[in-house]
Amino acid sequence: MSQHVVIIGAGIVGAATALEALSAGFRVTIVEPGDPGGEQAASYGNGCWLSPMSVIPPSSPGLWKKIPKFLMDPLGPLAIRWSYLPRVAPWLVKYLLAGWTEPKVEAIARAIRPLLVDAPALHRTLAERAGVERLIERRGLMYIYENRAQFETEAMAWRIRRKVGIEWLELGPDEMRQREPELDRRYGFAALVEEGGHCRDPGAYVAALVAQAQAEGATLVRARASGFRIEGGRLRAVLTDGGEIAADRAVISAGAYSKKLAAAVGSDVPLETERGYHAMILGSEIGPRTPLMPYDGKMSVTLTDRGLRCAGQVEIAGLEAAPNWKRAEILRDHLLRSFPNLPRDLPAEKVKVWMGHRPTMPDGLPCIGPAAASADVLLAFGHGHVGLVAGPRTARAVAALLAGTPPELPLGPFSPSRFA
Ligand SMILES: Cc1cc2nc3c(=O)[nH]c(=O)nc-3n(C[C@H](O)[C@H](O)[C@H](O)COP(=O)(O)OP(=O)(O)OC[C@H]3O[C@@H](n4cnc5c(N)ncnc54)[C@H](O)[C@@H]3O)c2cc1C
Repeated sequence: MSQHVVIIGAGIVGAATALEALSAGFRVTIVEPGDPGGEQAASYGNGCWLSPMSVIPPSSPGLWKKIPKFLMDPLGPLAIRWSYLPRVAPWLVKYLLAGWTEPKVEAIARAIRPLLVDAPALHRTLAERAGVERLIERRGLMYIYENRAQFETEAMAWRIRRKVGIEWLELGPDEMRQREPELDRRYGFAALVEEGGHCRDPGAYVAALVAQAQAEGATLVRARASGFRIEGGRLRAVLTDGGEIAADRAVISAGAYSKKLAAAVGSDVPLETERGYHAMILGSEIGPRTPLMPYDGKMSVTLTDRGLRCAGQVEIAGLEAAPNWKRAEILRDHLLRSFPNLPRDLPAEKVKVWMGHRPTMPDGLPCIGPAAASADVLLAFGHGHVGLVAGPRTARAVAALLAGTPPELPLGPFSPSRFA
């Protein structure tokens, strides 16, 4: 009899892990209260970027100087809600320290690069298996600036990217115009990373991966996991609001909701949610050919199957607080400023807004490894800003840990106990 693994959560990490665990010969059950890849998951509404160059953590040297601004400006690209400050303060200190110096940032970049490299190709393989290969495209990804001087304000990030093997093409105003004729002319410089790709509809993609796992024999249980029954260090069952599920192994891949589950199996991890938003102009055919990240917005702009999506913003306010939809309006307005041909008088029903939870560790690196109280339970969450791109290789690493074979990349930097 093959071993039974219960995968908790059906975002990109759980969905990809289910397929890899099936390939490794496990019997698989996925436990998920919502629709796989549904609106409750970060994997639904993200920026669609499959960006192997997203190696720079959110924390950077000197960030601490901006904390007063983050507190005073509730609509800035990064905001911390006053009411949440006492709760988040210990996490915030770890977050600031993680990127305190350039060598620290470089060490994080070196650690995460192997998790991201070749991501568009890995996604393509998964998508082919699920019959949705058209959802994965590789047209590069482009960071856009008003001019070279603006690009140079990010010299540290680009220096580190170069050191970890990332290459890019620099484009001037004429080349940009040729590539992106509809883009506002205030942008006159771009760094095009050709190894990048994007997903045309992350929610549909995750749903297709889970459907494929079911077609290959996995069971989907609509329930919320609440804990584990462990006897003598061995997992016996996963507890859910629908009853117990007998299991030999389990994987916690519940994104931002994983902290309590990890604690239930002895791992106290500093996981927070960095809330993010998107605004989408439904049905728009106006937009960039290559997904863009404008310097003045720190958001991704991607033409998806559902419309033109602008995703970004970081709001530290916990899992419970109501969304601040003004943040999504900022994203919508940025789209209107960036693409002058978009209709100015958009009716409300043409704009869809969404808020979701990035599962973020202070150093921007995920947790991938065994839980403290039982090696039968694996943690696979905390991917922050890079969960979509990192999903497939995370899944391969988890499958290797389940099977007891050597993982294809060093997992030390992702140890769940690194902050203990
Ligand atoms: C605005 C925004 C833009 C982003 N842009 C990008 C991008 O361009 N590229 C990129 O790589 N990443 C991006 N990210 C990050 C990325 O979306 C996340 O890191 C990634 O989706 C996390 O995937 P996950 O599977 O860990 O979690 P999720 O996708 O959140 O899935 C977790 C699932 O677990 C389920 N769950 C929760 N609790 C339980 C429980 N108790 N029992 C069972 N199931 C449970 C939830 O219902 C959910 O379906 C972005 C995020 C945001 C918010």
